Amino acid sequence: MTSYPPAQTVEEFAANLAAVRARIDAAAARVGRAPSDVRLLPVSKTVPQERLRLAVAAGCRELGENKVQEAKRKSQEMADLDVAWAVIGHLQTNKAKDVAAFAAEFQALDSVRVAEALDRRLQLEGRSLDVYVQVNTSAEESKYGLAPDAVPGFLRELPAFTALRVRGFMTLAEFSSDEARVRECFRRLRGIRDRALDVDPGLTELSMGMSGDYEVAIEEGATCVRVGQAIFGSRALPDSHYWPSGG
Ligand SMILES: *Cc1c(COP(=O)(O)O)cnc(C)c1O
Repeated sequence: MTSYPPAQTVEEFAANLAAVRARIDAAAARVGRAPSDVRLLPVSKTVPQERLRLAVAAGCRELGENKVQEAKRKSQEMADLDVAWAVIGHLQTNKAKDVAAFAAEFQALDSVRVAEALDRRLQLEGRSLDVYVQVNTSAEESKYGLAPDAVPGFLRELPAFTALRVRGFMTLAEFSSDEARVRECFRRLRGIRDRALDVDPGLTELSMGMSGDYEVAIEEGATCVRVGQAIFGSRALPDSHYWPSGG
């Protein structure tokens, strides 16, 4: 496991953001892609608002959170700041109303029930929400997301939910030090996206890649990378805290 030093000042955050951005740009350039086609979504789970305020001062305008309760609390604590919140972790239907109230984006859609619950709340609030369909590309039981072969049928259900703007797909690669296996997960998601584009030309986005593998993800076509530890520092809790029985 790489260890990432925690940024403690605005300058350190600015330096970490610039370093990650430079590696994103270099990875894009290696495969002939425009750096501006890759969006950096900083992931701030477990980081308290005092430090998040430094990151915002250093230029973060959007933040990703894995857990709805934590995201909701922070969005309230930081309501004075101009930050767009992305929920990137599994959602239970009973929390859909929270996401509908404060989130700008939801990247972990993997059931019709959640789509329905979100749409109902969004219609009431008169809002719409960008969503990504989460796909389990590693076939690990510990991962949320649709099985790849369930994606086409799922996509056919989504036009009924008019408050959801379906932008594309999200995945977590296999946790492996074997880069070839990680890369294979990203390729799989890209293949799913390419086939879906034939049906709906709006499904362009590919959210894939985290601190340990975002450069590989960009080489395989990521349009959004979700990076936490490389910006905020190593987390104390193991990943198994965020993904059921996984890690
Ligand atoms: C935590 C998290 C990330 C970022 O992981 P880091 O190792 O901190 O870069 C990305 N995606 C999801 C869904 C996460 O929960």
